[in-house]
Amino acid sequence: MNEARIAAAKRRACAAVDAIADELVAISHELHSHPEPGYHERHAAALLAGRLARGGFAVQRHAFGLPTAFAAHAGTPAGPRVVICCEYDAIPGMGHACGHNIVGAAGLGAGLALAGIAAPVGGRVTVLGTPAEEGGGGKILLADRGAFAGAAAAMLVHPAPYETVRPHINAASTLHVTTIGRAAHASMFPEAGVNALDALVLGYLGLATLRQHLAPTDKVHGIITDGGTAPSVVPARAAGWFMVRSANGTDLVRLRQRVLAAFRAGALSAGARLVAQWQWPQYAEMRHSLPLAVACEENLRALGRHPVPPERIPVSRAASTDLGNVSHLVPAIHPKLAISPPDVVPHSPAFARWAVGPAADRAVVDGAKALAMTAIDVWLRPRLRAAMRYPFSRPRPPVSVPRASRHGASAVRGR
Ligand SMILES: [Zn+2]
Ligand SMILES: [Zn+2]
Repeated sequence: MNEARIAAAKRRACAAVDAIADELVAISHELHSHPEPGYHERHAAALLAGRLARGGFAVQRHAFGLPTAFAAHAGTPAGPRVVICCEYDAIPGMGHACGHNIVGAAGLGAGLALAGIAAPVGGRVTVLGTPAEEGGGGKILLADRGAFAGAAAAMLVHPAPYETVRPHINAASTLHVTTIGRAAHASMFPEAGVNALDALVLGYLGLATLRQHLAPTDKVHGIITDGGTAPSVVPARAAGWFMVRSANGTDLVRLRQRVLAAFRAGALSAGARLVAQWQWPQYAEMRHSLPLAVACEENLRALGRHPVPPERIPVSRAASTDLGNVSHLVPAIHPKLAISPPDVVPHSPAFARWAVGPAADRAVVDGAKALAMTAIDVWLRPRLRAAMRYPFSRPRPPVSVPRASRHGASAVRGR
């Protein structure tokens, strides 16, 4: 009886997505053609929130004090609440090279399809506009301010060159380093100078030697943003911006210390001063909800898609997301849908082009259906909800990436 009811609700949701498929694809393309970096996604947030308001949602714009967030609610207030996250930030200088136009449009489609189903079946849906996934940690701020409180599940779909429901998602920290030396005429009085660029480059080379001895799940990468002002001047200041990632927060703490040691050694060698700041918030590794992932995978297979098990994907193919932090608070999944050939990789101009290709457009529609069907599973399967809650009801180790001080980044100073 319940199975028939679930099947009927899923058919209704899929039909609702099909009825607006062209519009969802048009919205995906519209987001793509107006790329906005994190916390500046005014057009995207207004577009999605406006459409949700017309689709029967009660919409809070600028939700939880974030100007480009929104929260849209529909369904039975006391029912199990499924949070569907819409990302829509672009990468500065690269447009939608991570394909968040697809994340936003698919989340919108799922929400619109669920709006008319939620109340009759006693469910609640929140479509949450989550800004600044690419480094700004929008979901972490939203989680801190209660956006996921009491949620039965949180989910989204994200594009990739491959398809899997449980991608490898590691903990990550961002580091800003500045080296401070002393300016001097680089030819007449070089001995009077302290070369801040040398200090930074030596630290950078220290990272290069460190990499040989890292686990496949440890990653260190970054850029030098400031290397001086003129070739005739000994650089008095140099700066860089780096990311450090590990399989979990404990490993990340150790790797952070090794990275800092490399920069300290560079500064020591050049006689410069080092100022290092770890940016808050930090991203936690993803703690996939296995029961929810299984439900989502069945729904993707019902749509004719073929997600591969995580064991088939090398652990080194890991990224990071602010949904990782959410997954330590409520059951969450982060399925990836294939939109490009395997050799077209995210964060490249080619991937940005594929983000509006035919496979991307199919991912918008199938992603909306898969999210909606999985939300229906959550609403109508009490045993699934109990299984999802189980890991959260037992004593747990502390969240693996510690929340840094609300007052900002931690600073490390040394010569
Ligand atoms: Zn990305
Ligand atoms: Zn992304």
